[in-house]
Amino acid sequence: MKPALIQPFFAALKAANPEPQTELEYTSVFELLAAVLLSAQATDVGVNKATRRLFPIANTPQAILDLGLGALEAHIKTIGLYRSKARHLMETCRMLVTQHGGQVPDTREALEALPGVGRKTANVVLNVAFGQPTMAVDTHIFRVSNRTGLAPGKTPLAVEQQLLKRVPPEYAVDSHHWLILLGRYVCQARKPRCWECVVAPYCDYEPKTPRP
Ligand code: SF4
Repeated sequence: MKPALIQPFFAALKAANPEPQTELEYTSVFELLAAVLLSAQATDVGVNKATRRLFPIANTPQAILDLGLGALEAHIKTIGLYRSKARHLMETCRMLVTQHGGQVPDTREALEALPGVGRKTANVVLNVAFGQPTMAVDTHIFRVSNRTGLAPGKTPLAVEQQLLKRVPPEYAVDSHHWLILLGRYVCQARKPRCWECVVAPYCDYEPKTPRP
């Protein structure tokens, strides 16, 4: 994608959805961290179903520690990999209580030191909770960035670095959500829905998928 097309690409996404939001449900920074930690290889819909059971009972690090591993597993067992996720979440809660006064830290280094929290989860929390212009590259953002020519790269980290360089500053905070939603609902893996895509005029992908 030519650099001159990047600005109108994001302007089109913003015009279509001025205030994009994560589809994970949360009411606090800790709930967001827990939801993202549980979301690896799971859908947001599936995570929301489990956290709707869990959060009314326990939505702070101390409350989850008090709940205990067995009860935590029982609440999230509909999510894939729930045993290891439960263990990681318990260990993360323990560190939040002992090292961070029960609060979620706002630095990449401290977040990535938490069990089960990798670069992608840290990027989501820094972006969504703390408004930092980070770029969490998931499968949707990876595909959209390569297909459109916005930020081509062979690995998620290479795409992340390209995006950080190429996304105009005024779109940096929200670009993560726009790209995820574009990939999830329009620029889908098997068959991109080019005929109804607001960024089609700026996207490198050819030939565009015609209206069926
Ligand atoms: S025009 Fe097609 S390939 Fe390009 S972003 Fe839109 S859906 Fe994806």
